[in-house]
Amino acid sequence: MAKQQFKAESKRLLEMMINSIYSQREVFLRELISNASDAIDKIYYKALTDESLTFDQENYYIKVTPNKENRTLTITDTGIGMTKEELENNLGVIAKSGSLAFKTENELKDGHDIIGQFGVGFYAAFMVADVVTVVSRALGSDEAYKWQSEGAEGYTIEPHEKDTVGTEIILQIKENAEEENYDEFLEEYSLKTIIKKYSDFIRYPIKMDVSGQ
Ligand code: ADP
Ligand code: MG
Repeated sequence: MAKQQFKAESKRLLEMMINSIYSQREVFLRELISNASDAIDKIYYKALTDESLTFDQENYYIKVTPNKENRTLTITDTGIGMTKEELENNLGVIAKSGSLAFKTENELKDGHDIIGQFGVGFYAAFMVADVVTVVSRALGSDEAYKWQSEGAEGYTIEPHEKDTVGTEIILQIKENAEEENYDEFLEEYSLKTIIKKYSDFIRYPIKMDVSGQ
């Protein structure tokens, strides 16, 4: 069957998307940190009305852990977590939020930081990782689950051990290839620079654990 061509406008838009994603793939970290922050916010707001819940500031943080040996980058939060159903519904749909659809082409053309203008979401992780693993335990649940995916092919979910409420996202960082180097996403200094650039406004502490380096 002959391949259908995108309309000229959509095609240009798509090209801009791909180019800007390529040059700004570091934004995956902003997306994962902002999701972690949202998850802590959810506990914070729940605690305002739920008397059985106290929000003790020091227990709520985001942690970034690079491991060069294993080529993993782990983003941990002590947020509200996800049930099995939430893992399926929230992470199972590619580009669900479709923020791009809300921007007109002109809005996109005007900005040099095209991708910085809208959230690309959880799936941005696949710009830098070839396997993404999410281990999560929801508030109020004593079960935890592991969601794992290699991208568009699909995902698996199975029970997993996790002692505390919250979410751990483990990225298996891509191997370097010709003209493509992903090592910056395992380096303490460059990670700190990326966090400073995109996540400076986050109101929970972002810790870095480099003890495994
Ligand atoms: P958005 O943040 O715009 O909703 P994302 O693709 O970034 O879209 O995330 C999809 C959904 O997955 C979130 O709305 C949230 O429900 C869930 N999610 C993602 N990361 C986490 C996390 N660290 N903790 C709890 N829920 C999360
Ligand atoms: Mg998000």
